[in-house]
Amino acid sequence: MPGPAPPGPYNLVVTKPAAEYETVSTVHGDEGQRVLGTVVMKFGGTSVGDPEKITNVARRLVAARDRGVRVVGVVSAMGHTTDELLELAHEVSPQPDPRELDMLLSVGERISCALVAMAIDALGREAVSLTGSQAGIITDTVHTKAKIVEVRARRIHEALDEGRIVLVAGFQGMSTGLDITTLGRGGSDTTAVALAAALGADACEIYTDVEGVYTADPRVVPDARKLHAVSYEEMLEMAASGAKVLQLRSVEFARNHGVKLHVRSTFSDEPGTWITEEDERMEKAMISGVTHTVEEAVYRVQGATPADLFAALAEKNVNVDTIIQTGTDVIVFSAPLDDRGATAGTLDDLGATWSERDDLGKISIVGAGMKSHPGIASRTFATLHDLAVEPQFISTSPIKIAFYVPHAELERVVKTLHAVFDLGSPDAERRHG
Ligand code: ASP
Ligand code: MG
Repeated sequence: MPGPAPPGPYNLVVTKPAAEYETVSTVHGDEGQRVLGTVVMKFGGTSVGDPEKITNVARRLVAARDRGVRVVGVVSAMGHTTDELLELAHEVSPQPDPRELDMLLSVGERISCALVAMAIDALGREAVSLTGSQAGIITDTVHTKAKIVEVRARRIHEALDEGRIVLVAGFQGMSTGLDITTLGRGGSDTTAVALAAALGADACEIYTDVEGVYTADPRVVPDARKLHAVSYEEMLEMAASGAKVLQLRSVEFARNHGVKLHVRSTFSDEPGTWITEEDERMEKAMISGVTHTVEEAVYRVQGATPADLFAALAEKNVNVDTIIQTGTDVIVFSAPLDDRGATAGTLDDLGATWSERDDLGKISIVGAGMKSHPGIASRTFATLHDLAVEPQFISTSPIKIAFYVPHAELERVVKTLHAVFDLGSPDAERRHG
């Protein structure tokens, strides 16, 4: 990373290699025989929130079909269905069995995809809805966080060949052990990208309730700009550090299979944000955005070796993020609040002495241009110094600087850094020409 950080009482700097994302398995689709004119259109929970919105989604799919392309629609569960199903499960069991949880949660997407198919039928066009398993989405056997290992797209091809619009229930598949699995929260994005890869689609359009990817969360930074284009690497860093717009794994998948993503609003025809290979616009722009998250807990552990600790956490599928070893026997790491129960259980099982902090938020500055523009780190830390905020647990990659600050300071720091790096200016959008 360019530019030395200024000296100061910062906590140990630890670098997590940028490329250390979960590997994505090969998808055995039809990459050899690329079919021109296929589009995968994914609609999030808000986009299918009520019957009227479902009909609007049907209209969009029909309009695409009428342009002559083969259309695959992937839908999320309506509104807050998944949360409601989760609550229901917890009302009958303190720790619902993961296999049964998947059986339950997969229903949300089945409802919306059947309704969209009916709405298309009502518009006088032919559609067919498929569950994840009918669509040939084969996953590993890790319930509630399964990974797609293969897409057997034959049935989808047959329906497309018949001229139908194909609706696929997002977020789910069938495991190699023949059980129903789900792909983790936000997993419909990954369904859509995997299908786009397997079908050789021209693009994967992600329709959502925001206009695209922004230079910061517009609710916190009112002058945040919508980015015209973001590289896969930048989007990976942003998705890993609080940008909710895409599931992290869907971005890895898109990068590994060269799927062009277009994140855009369901409620307008405006173009959104393209996620593609890096180009010179991104390099020139230095910083693409400042993201933040309050959804992580930071753990301090003593009495376990790193090897044992991280093996045990991996075994429980805890997504560990920043890792810091201070001194010889203290390990500090962060993990999602969602994984809190599993993390606590693992640490207790190891007999470690540990404590947890949930009063810290993580801020990340991301930009492909960091590789060639020195001084980003020094400007960042000088800004924090001026704000009298001491960053904790700093971590970096070639295109990211991240650190933690107390919740109370989070918004002030995000706003100030956004201004310092000029992200409110029209240039920050990275338009062509
Ligand atoms: N319905 C699932 C969730 O709420 C999957 C998705 O929306 O992508 O996480
Ligand atoms: Mg989502």
